[in-house]
Amino acid sequence: MLEKLTVLLKIQQLDDKESELLSLREAAEHSIIECKKRLDCLQNKQKQHSEELSEHRKKLAVLNGELRAVEDKIIKNKEKSQSVTSEKQLNAMNSELESMNNQKSLLEEEILLGMEREESLSEIEEKLQSELKEVTNTFSAAELDLVLSKPEWEQNLAEVRRNRTRVAESADRVSLSLYQRIRTRHASVVVPVRDGTCEGCRIKLDHNTVNDLINQDSLVCCSNCSRILFVEEVLDQE
Ligand SMILES: [Zn+2]
Repeated sequence: MLEKLTVLLKIQQLDDKESELLSLREAAEHSIIECKKRLDCLQNKQKQHSEELSEHRKKLAVLNGELRAVEDKIIKNKEKSQSVTSEKQLNAMNSELESMNNQKSLLEEEILLGMEREESLSEIEEKLQSELKEVTNTFSAAELDLVLSKPEWEQNLAEVRRNRTRVAESADRVSLSLYQRIRTRHASVVVPVRDGTCEGCRIKLDHNTVNDLINQDSLVCCSNCSRILFVEEVLDQE
């Protein structure tokens, strides 16, 4: 009977190994998908930001153009004022000059604010670029790693499955089918008993079950969770 148990334990070990290999791969693929999502999101954000910065720079260029035009007008106005002949003309020109100076001040103020905004937008742009570079590198490395590790992973998986088939062929049909049935409900099928307690469901076993385990002339199942039980010390003695 202990041989049946040993075979089932071996099968369980191989099934666990297979699950582990599959979930490791799944986790790696999932992490790449998440990384790609983050990359796409960051690329969109960076693109939008880049457009905003470029629009802002265009506006700033327009403002600078307007400022130069006003400055030109002021110079011309000053030149013209040299040749005025009447006080009325002079007053008119001075009033025009004052209005142009006001316009100039307003433009200078607006440009100054615009330059401050440009600086902060550029800083964000720089941060986004560096973050984008980092995520791109992480993504490429993870993708490459997944591709490079695939052959070894496939080889390991095939080996585990081959071994599993080989061991299952040597197993007793009835105990194997019992194992398969329990496996559809629980990841751990064959579980140790410690201090009279099933390690699968943590329920204290009754006396009959404990006695059956000591005699061990057939597979013993937990009356609560149906898992197949074994006592480590008994197995070790074999
Ligand atoms: Zn149990």
